[in-house]
Amino acid sequence: VDTCDTLCSACHVLAKTGGDRDAFVSENRSIRFDQLQITSHRVANALRDEGCDEGTRVAVIGGDAIASYELLFGCAMAGCVLVPVNWRLSPTELIRIIEDSEARLLMIDTPALDKLRSGGCDLPAGVKLLTFDEFARWRDEADFAAIDCRATSETPLVQIYTSGTTGVPKGVVLAHRSFFQLRRSMRSVGDDWMGLHAGDRLLLTLPQFHIGGLWWAIQGYLVGATGYLMPAFTGWQAIELIERHRITQVPMVPAMIQFSMAEPTFESANFSSVRGFLYGGSPISGDLLASAQQAFSQAEFFQIYGLTETGNMAVCLRPEDHNRDDRRLATGRPLPGVSCKIIQPDGTTAPANAVGEVWLKSPSVMLEYWKRPEETADTLSDGWIRTGDVGYLAEDGCLYVCDRLKDMIIYAGENLFPAEIETVLRQHDAIGDVAVIGVPDPKWGESPKAFIELRHGSEKPKVRELLRFAKSQLAEFKVPKSFEFVDQLPRNPSGKVLKKTLRQPYWENQQRKVN
Ligand code: ATP
Repeated sequence: VDTCDTLCSACHVLAKTGGDRDAFVSENRSIRFDQLQITSHRVANALRDEGCDEGTRVAVIGGDAIASYELLFGCAMAGCVLVPVNWRLSPTELIRIIEDSEARLLMIDTPALDKLRSGGCDLPAGVKLLTFDEFARWRDEADFAAIDCRATSETPLVQIYTSGTTGVPKGVVLAHRSFFQLRRSMRSVGDDWMGLHAGDRLLLTLPQFHIGGLWWAIQGYLVGATGYLMPAFTGWQAIELIERHRITQVPMVPAMIQFSMAEPTFESANFSSVRGFLYGGSPISGDLLASAQQAFSQAEFFQIYGLTETGNMAVCLRPEDHNRDDRRLATGRPLPGVSCKIIQPDGTTAPANAVGEVWLKSPSVMLEYWKRPEETADTLSDGWIRTGDVGYLAEDGCLYVCDRLKDMIIYAGENLFPAEIETVLRQHDAIGDVAVIGVPDPKWGESPKAFIELRHGSEKPKVRELLRFAKSQLAEFKVPKSFEFVDQLPRNPSGKVLKKTLRQPYWENQQRKVN
């Protein structure tokens, strides 16, 4: 597939070279590379019969299943754009996305459909509804004749909605190239693409509606590996699947690592088959990383940094850098073909080690935000994406991401990065997880407040003790001015803490400086 630049052409090649190996495996079904080519044609013909043509949006809501991947490949062949939607959203949020996407067809699983109906939400007129149960018949009744796929690398393939941790969800339109170009530029410099090989067994921990999940599933497919689907992530099931299928590659966001470690089966699990461990999506503490490295001791570790808008991975901390004390805390280096610069508030490029907004240029960047030309122009210019993250480039070219610009707290004229404060607090024995936000402060504008999730089985520590602990490692002005214990921090499905939700009650009637 090294010469392919669309999912359609890769599908034809892999149908021949992937032989009778499984491309995707779920709890009760599997599909081989050659079968996937045939069902892609059937699904594409079925889509055309429904009047879905080039550029038509086709939405899917439901836990990851092989059918969702058949729909993706069918869309690719027919030139339609798949819109995978987060099934955990509320009925109103789901309807808002379906409306915004202008989807003509919606494939939905029964729990999500029940949720929509019990929420009293009607689908927009003209949307054809197809349940996961009806999908098989719909697909099998269609013609299997090969379809003439006219896609190029610039043809839109998917529209992924941002999770809205920082604003209203926006539809990020990604072309076929977002899944091919980076791989190509890495292969051209002799990189073996994170050690992925035909015959590898990948655990698909992240959902299809998240760029990390979809991207990883396609990268595995492109090398001829088998992807093991999880309808929804749980720590115990991840452990069980790794052991049962002798999984070779595992991707996890930091929250998933924590959930897995909290399982009673984690300690005694056999992870010796795992050769590659990918993590990213949010900052990770040194302790958590060290524990993961200890548990998956046979694996090479890769940290990934990227956004939906950059078509996922743009920066990577490679295995060799994990062994160097001076690089362990870095986010990574831009991949071949990717450029990174740091822009200061006055618009100039920052020198080495100076903090500013991270900008990335990658061959995988999005085409646009769907129907939002102004937001597109604000975020994407001349191939560069404004990430909305604050960070710096060290002299050796390593990128260090400090935090999100919108989460930065300006306290007494100083810029505070919650991620730094959280990293320190997470080292406290009683703290399971913590989120620091800025709350209004009559004297200083805003000041840091910490929300704490206790470690399982731990007693609530005294605030005095927390202050002492924080002060032992942080400058006085960075120490939170208040602490609050919560049962659970609000999170999105990929485990990211929703700071917007935490901040909302405090800022209802006031404007933040950082916005
Ligand atoms: P929204 O854009 O609506 O806020 P989101 O946060 O889920 O939603 P994504 O594109 O999934 O959007 O996430 C991208 C962000 O995740 C980055 O801008 C960065 O803040 C964070 N991130 C990704 N990888 C890493 C990493 N390795 N280390 C630290 N932060 C990371």
